[in-house]
Amino acid sequence: MPNLDGFLGRDIEPDGQGFVVEADLSADSGRRDFLKGVAAMVAAAVGSSVFGGCGRKEPKETGAPEVPAEAEAEAPSNVGTEAEAEAQVQVRASSEEIANLKRRKEVFLSSLEAGERIARQTGDKEALAVIAFVKDSYVLTEPAAQGLACRVIEVQSGSGEQWIFATPLIAGDEFKSAEWNRIMKSLPAAGMFLPDINTLVVDGVTPFSEFTKGILALHEGRHAQRFVTDKYDWKDTRTFCCQERDTHEFQNRLTATIGGKKYQDLLGREVARLKAELDGAGIPVGIGMAPRSPYHAEFDEIFGPALSDKDRKFRETSFWIDANFRLLEKYSKGDVAEQKALFLKTTYAEGGLLPGS
Ligand SMILES: [Zn+2]
Repeated sequence: MPNLDGFLGRDIEPDGQGFVVEADLSADSGRRDFLKGVAAMVAAAVGSSVFGGCGRKEPKETGAPEVPAEAEAEAPSNVGTEAEAEAQVQVRASSEEIANLKRRKEVFLSSLEAGERIARQTGDKEALAVIAFVKDSYVLTEPAAQGLACRVIEVQSGSGEQWIFATPLIAGDEFKSAEWNRIMKSLPAAGMFLPDINTLVVDGVTPFSEFTKGILALHEGRHAQRFVTDKYDWKDTRTFCCQERDTHEFQNRLTATIGGKKYQDLLGREVARLKAELDGAGIPVGIGMAPRSPYHAEFDEIFGPALSDKDRKFRETSFWIDANFRLLEKYSKGDVAEQKALFLKTTYAEGGLLPGS
């Protein structure tokens, strides 16, 4: 259980409206204690402007956050005092905060839905498990105004024993803190998983196609699932690269299934091109890299039109990694698994994406 101090803001200004923080306190688990802690800390943070409290209530449909039409009389909160079946805390917030909460929720759910569509379409067991994990575990947050921290804005009644933060980024977040500004500027694609704060970050500013959004949700969701489950040392470069390799194998498998024969043919031609380039330069496979190819117009036909430069960049990089993995499988005489991890290490080092870089 991390120290939650950094994750909860204490600057909620009441203006007569509110949004709902729901905490499912029914399970005897770490998750229960975590949610109970969230509820108690929100209560402590906003003091008398919290109303509601512990008590049983019918499960609510998930969807748009509940916004009370008008504020009720203030009552002292008893949230977090005991493990009742469910707790509901209503925290007053400005209309701007409510609009932002709705927007963040839309961004996150649309990424999750895109990932779920791919998982169902491919029937891939691992993809289905990743989506189930994210659905059961996420706690919706926003960037906090200081450092690289998140503030809880909604806790849904999931059944997961484990938890991750989900932080959809929207316009204006670049002004939250220098750290969030850097994250927004350096986001390599539609999202990333930040293990140090256990947070799934989703880009809600750049337009992305459903295909890219879905693959990214699955890629980052897998990182989150593996990290929470295995607690691996993400700062260790080798471990980091092996996780990336395994996650790219997963991504390649899904992409090849979605892309079908047209994608696989294109991939085959790219592998042949890479081999010819290396042969021409006298470099053995597994030792050096051939130059990348520009964006293939066929991607738009196969996966639907890309909607932004970042979308195109993501597809092109994904294809490049896929082709290099196949190249190693087909022609390398060395330890192929190790060489794939090394290939990613070199690629990430060039992009400044290795831990500590
Ligand atoms: Zn990754």
